[in-house]
Amino acid sequence: MKKRYVIGIDAGGTKVAYGLFNDEGKIIDRIEHATDAEADGPGFSDTLIENTKALMTKNNQSFEQLDGVGIGMPSYIKNNTGYVFITSAMPQIKDFAMRDYLEARLPTRIVLDNDANTAALAEYRHGAGRGTRHMVYIVVGTGLGSGIIIDGKVFSGSYGAAGECGHMLATPNEGLLCGCDNKGCFMSYVSGRLLPEHVKLGMENGIDSILTPETANGIQLIKAYKKGDMLAQKIIEQIAHNLAWCVFNIYQLLNIDTFVFGGGYTGMCDILFDRVREKFGNLNHIPFPVHFKMAELKEDIGIIGAAEYIKEVL
Ligand SMILES: [Zn+2]
Repeated sequence: MKKRYVIGIDAGGTKVAYGLFNDEGKIIDRIEHATDAEADGPGFSDTLIENTKALMTKNNQSFEQLDGVGIGMPSYIKNNTGYVFITSAMPQIKDFAMRDYLEARLPTRIVLDNDANTAALAEYRHGAGRGTRHMVYIVVGTGLGSGIIIDGKVFSGSYGAAGECGHMLATPNEGLLCGCDNKGCFMSYVSGRLLPEHVKLGMENGIDSILTPETANGIQLIKAYKKGDMLAQKIIEQIAHNLAWCVFNIYQLLNIDTFVFGGGYTGMCDILFDRVREKFGNLNHIPFPVHFKMAELKEDIGIIGAAEYIKEVL
């Protein structure tokens, strides 16, 4: 029997979204639930199994019709093994053979990869990267990471963790300590996760602000910026130049001409990304075009990418 459906799962730190797709790639149905950030590998997997079954039942479909389940999650997953080393936002999901666990309990193929890679694939095939040959997707918001597409394929490196541009070092051994255990990586300057720390530092240095470490987030940062807040301006400048340096370094290394930006900070489009573009331009002395685009797929990017990933490993 021809298998007619796939399920794409976007397992993020806040919510887990499931999309049921038909063989034309159209979304038939979707469900979601809040993420249990304390769940361990088996517990989290059991929830995925339960909801996958519920989505099939809800649509009166049997597993014989299902060609595979793709999962994108904020994890370091070893190439081609489905083995999860570590997961940001869900720290208990680590050192876990997640694909094996799921395949033993669901009668279908399981593929999983880092969510920046699945999102990159989604934008490449259905979003802002359509028609390009190579593309880098950069996700900037709570964290900073990327997914690299070379000749239409996700490039994941020798061990599965290519694209971790957020942990490239801007000021080695200086600055704030990141979850990668180094000080001064690009993520430590750019990510929303460390924004409260930068607010605290600014206040300690005597810069007046309406921001507070307790309430600082991307939305508050923009509000403060628009009111002319000095600290908000300084922080946005810091985010912009570090992001520009990061993108410039990637461009120098890979010479890929299309950068697609996604994640929470894209809400600051004109304020942040115009500066990034300008600062990148100041560094780039070669007159070939480099395209900066905003991701097009919005909230479905994760489930679309996870579903597309199934085709990658056919
Ligand atoms: Zn880092």
